[in-house]
Amino acid sequence: MKMIGILGSTGSIGTQTLDVVRNHPDDFCVTALSAGSNIALLEEQIREFSPKLAVVGSEKLAKELKSRVKDLNVKICSGMEGLLEMAVQPEMEIIVTAIVGMIGIRPTMEAIRAGKDIALANKETLVTAGHLIMPLAEEHHVQILPVDSEHSAIFQCLHGESRKAVHKLLITASGGPFRGRKRAELADVTLADALKHPNWSMGQKITIDSATLVNKGLEVMEAKWLFGVALEQIQVVVQPQSIIHSMVEFEDGAVMAQLGTPDMRLPIQYALYYPERKYLPGERLDFRTLSQITFEQPDTETFEGLPLALRAARDGGSMPTVFNAANERAVAKFLRKEIRFLDIYEIIRTSMERHRVIAHPDLEEVLQTEQETYEWIESRW
Ligand code: NAD
Ligand code: MG
Repeated sequence: MKMIGILGSTGSIGTQTLDVVRNHPDDFCVTALSAGSNIALLEEQIREFSPKLAVVGSEKLAKELKSRVKDLNVKICSGMEGLLEMAVQPEMEIIVTAIVGMIGIRPTMEAIRAGKDIALANKETLVTAGHLIMPLAEEHHVQILPVDSEHSAIFQCLHGESRKAVHKLLITASGGPFRGRKRAELADVTLADALKHPNWSMGQKITIDSATLVNKGLEVMEAKWLFGVALEQIQVVVQPQSIIHSMVEFEDGAVMAQLGTPDMRLPIQYALYYPERKYLPGERLDFRTLSQITFEQPDTETFEGLPLALRAARDGGSMPTVFNAANERAVAKFLRKEIRFLDIYEIIRTSMERHRVIAHPDLEEVLQTEQETYEWIESRW
């Protein structure tokens, strides 16, 4: 029986994690759940999975949730304090970081310090604080198990292989809903257009990140930290059908790939059971009806999200934080229909241009850089 906590249990990854738990009631026990504001769903989850602790975004919501579940034996906490308490919950062995954004950094680091394994979906955390998180995990002998489908694919391809034999990581991308369009054709796209991902059903922020290709940029940085490779060893390949989830090229030229239907429960389950595999109900790839898998180069002139991310990664230090924070704020504005699609790139680019890089930022400097980026954007947009 594995004791698991889920940071962000009401979101896309969180609910699919609970689906995996539901399919294997004898293997997992949920000890803690957290959500931002959806307390109706959180209440349902508490009633179904009986965690000892539940955390919500604000004190006001905590009060409301407390009165809704007063017949149950569950402790309710709120805010960052609550997330940090959850991170060190004694009975929890592994925490799924299914929260969105840099808010995940501190709870993830606390969980590592407390010796909890991390099933990592929250890529923004690794992108901005990978230089702090990876050494901390090593120091505390904690496993960082990737949940992002591309990184899980690479992790699966690397199973039983020597990391030294890796020549190149090939991260696949669907290209998003606007693949094939040119820049001028993106000027007037709507929020509804951008939210239509061709293959995956995900949370709103990552769906917009997929449309801008910022997501792929974040994933390149995520891969750099997770697998300890140089940026030059990572190549993005557009594979519009989302059947190959990523590949590894080894020193001898052999390329290993992981294929499957687009179903996040597979990488979630792989992280939770690693190194074992278990039956997963659902659709399978059918090579009798599958007609083709095609490949393209990413269009980096149109989709600036990728080259901007690579520039931030090359600059290093605090620049990935600026890239990520600017994107988080820009996407929030786009979701509220306050800016246009291409303004997302403009906000990221101008935020990066004005920033003076701190070479080895500590946690305080990372969070301060995030705050400064937000303040600058608010003063300008
Ligand atoms: P989502 O928006 O569907 O869910 C986010 C969760 O975080 C929700 O439970 C929400 O309540 C919680 N949350 C948000 N803000 C919070 C706050 N301020 N305080 C406390 N809780 C808060 O997002 P998602 O699509 O599940 O993505 C989660 C993470 O996983 C992201 O980092 C994303 O990039 C990554 N990821 C997602 C997918 C996917 O298929 N959805 C795939 C790969 C990686
Ligand atoms: Mg991904």
